Amino acid sequence: MLTGKTKLLGVIGHPVEHSLSPVMHNAAIAHLGLDYVYVPLSVKPEDLETALSGLTAINFQGFNVTIPHKQAILPLLSEISPMAQAVGAVNTVWRHGDTWAGTNTDIEGFIAPLQALNRDWSQSIALILGNGGAARAVVAACNQLGCKQIQVVGRNQQKLQQFCASWSNTIAAKLQVQTWEQLPQLIPQTNLLINTTPIGMHPHSEVSPLNADFALPAQAIAYDLIYTPRPTKFLQQAQQQGAITIDGLEMLVQQGAAALKIWLQQPVPIEVMRQALQKQLRKSSEFKTQNSEDKANHID
Ligand code: NAP
Repeated sequence: MLTGKTKLLGVIGHPVEHSLSPVMHNAAIAHLGLDYVYVPLSVKPEDLETALSGLTAINFQGFNVTIPHKQAILPLLSEISPMAQAVGAVNTVWRHGDTWAGTNTDIEGFIAPLQALNRDWSQSIALILGNGGAARAVVAACNQLGCKQIQVVGRNQQKLQQFCASWSNTIAAKLQVQTWEQLPQLIPQTNLLINTTPIGMHPHSEVSPLNADFALPAQAIAYDLIYTPRPTKFLQQAQQQGAITIDGLEMLVQQGAAALKIWLQQPVPIEVMRQALQKQLRKSSEFKTQNSEDKANHID
């Protein structure tokens, strides 16, 4: 039951209506029997600073940050973790006295299913498709894993050069940026191929960032940050070649669990969070199928 004593957590974004975070966080809170609630809050870009003062005033305990505020919030925080500073984006904020501190749990989230494979990454070459916000967390994560080389593929030369120039020396030394035309030469060398573009995401599930005839080396891993559909066309192609495949659901679960751990300062039930997300995704895919069947029936 919500009372005047219930502690407040949430996510700020715009749009935020389709966020899956409330489902997984509230499931964990209920499981732990805590007097907390996690709410989605729609905050327009121009209202970010005002919203932050409001969250302070109403004694929010912490919140997630999603598009379009992940970079914009940095100057409004009194403390930023070195990891979030390197990436240039914050996705988790907590109270720091009367101000706010932030970090980026996307790195921890992305890396978790790879660490579970117990591999030696020191000779690995990572190939990242896309150079947007998520790609930044992935670059930091691949560096943390200890990959020998990190290749980033983008379609806009100017953005690629800015991306390359934005990293510290340690990461810059192993980072190379490339254009999509280079892929046929790059793919056969890669041990870890990661899609950070939205290509293949519902409702465009029939497309892939790669054409069908790419050839990965043996034991390669294909990782797609997308979690609807599961699997994506890209992961289906990679699976057909014998690659190990990972979709974006575990990253979503693990970045959420890492955030909740920061707010609650106690262990969190990751399996409960995973199951809540899986259930919600099943429900929405049933809804989507039903909806398209209804439309098809209507057309008939
Ligand atoms: P973003 O900042 O908009 O970056 C998207 C990147 O993809 C950009 O580099 C963009 O290139 C590139 N791109 C988009 N369409 C393309 C196309 N048709 N051809 C070639 N390149 C294209 O988005 P983001 O925040 O990084 O998110 C990217 C994806 O990751 C989304 O699908 C998101 O749902 C997913 N994601 C998942 C998780 C998770 O927990 N699983 C977390 C974060 C993100 P330009 O810069 O040239 O436009």
